[in-house]
Amino acid sequence: PAITRDRLRVAIQKSGRLADPARDLLASCGLTWRESRDKLFCYGESLPVDLLLVRDDDIPGLIADGVCDLGIVGRNVVVEYDLGRQAGGAPGALEEWRQLGWGTCRLDIAINDDERWAGAEQLAGKRIATSYPHTLGRWLSERGVEADIVTLSGSVEIAPRLGQADLICDLVSTGGTLAANNLKPVETLLHSEAVIAGPTHPLEDGRADIADMLLRRMDGALRLKE
Ligand code: ATP
Ligand code: ZN
Repeated sequence: PAITRDRLRVAIQKSGRLADPARDLLASCGLTWRESRDKLFCYGESLPVDLLLVRDDDIPGLIADGVCDLGIVGRNVVVEYDLGRQAGGAPGALEEWRQLGWGTCRLDIAINDDERWAGAEQLAGKRIATSYPHTLGRWLSERGVEADIVTLSGSVEIAPRLGQADLICDLVSTGGTLAANNLKPVETLLHSEAVIAGPTHPLEDGRADIADMLLRRMDGALRLKE
């Protein structure tokens, strides 16, 4: 039986780059809320919309499992999650319901400063450190390149210096972190921004109307900012 609920539940990042802009966006839609003591759950006061504050990596799974209805998260996280599901033989579970235009960054291949870049073929047999193994794996296989993907959950940019990998595939915004580690971006796998992620199917029961209203207000708020 499908889960029925008369309140919409939106997952946002608890702390990090997307946390404040996500809260600001929801506040600009007229949402006010009360935080629980543990600050993991926010009860919506002005609208029947509750917030769950989590790590960004947990947001796709919460939506896929129906625990949350929508989430505010980077496209990079959504794409990686769905490719991971598909690698396991499951269908994709998520769709971008809106693009928010902030939190922009790229998922780039970066190599040592002093190396020359001649194209993807030179990656054959190389060790590539990344937190995005499925997105990188798809990009490599589309090019028929077999490389060794070293999956790291953080500090990817120091992996070449530590001898863990020959190069990296990581998120880049200004390129400052890469430069500080003597790396340079050479290929872009994905252009990312914050998105409203939701299921591939429409919401059911009263939540459909609540989501419609929230998204309409969001569209208005986003238009005002342009
Ligand atoms: P969490 O504790 O929630 O797991 P995190 O460390 O994974 O946090 P942040 O560094 O806060 O996440 O980044 C969140 C999102 O911000 C990224 O997934 C990406 O979409 C976006 N972003 C924008 N610019 C950058 C950047 N330069 N580096 C990393 N992420 C960026
Ligand atoms: Zn994260």
